[in-house]
Amino acid sequence: MAVGLLLFIAGLVISLTVGQSASIGLIFGIPLLIAGLVLPLFMMRDLLQHNVVSGNCPYCDAPIKTSDATIRLNCPNCKNLIEIREMTLQRGE
Ligand SMILES: [Zn+2]
Repeated sequence: MAVGLLLFIAGLVISLTVGQSASIGLIFGIPLLIAGLVLPLFMMRDLLQHNVVSGNCPYCDAPIKTSDATIRLNCPNCKNLIEIREMTLQRGE
């Protein structure tokens, strides 16, 4: 997120300052502006993809969907303890 913002600001500054005297500023500034806008979108998409853990309960095979921020949870079906390890559902100890 911060990288995208930095690129956006850099692109804006370059196209405003250098762009007034030469077209070189626009050549460098516009790609930076676009990169600054697109990069945060890619990063957000990656974050969303990594946040969901789905699988079957290791005890009763019921389908479970949770976030990888969850360390452990109880199965809604059989109430047994499940631990999230490396994006997979494992039996809790
Ligand atoms: Zn279960």
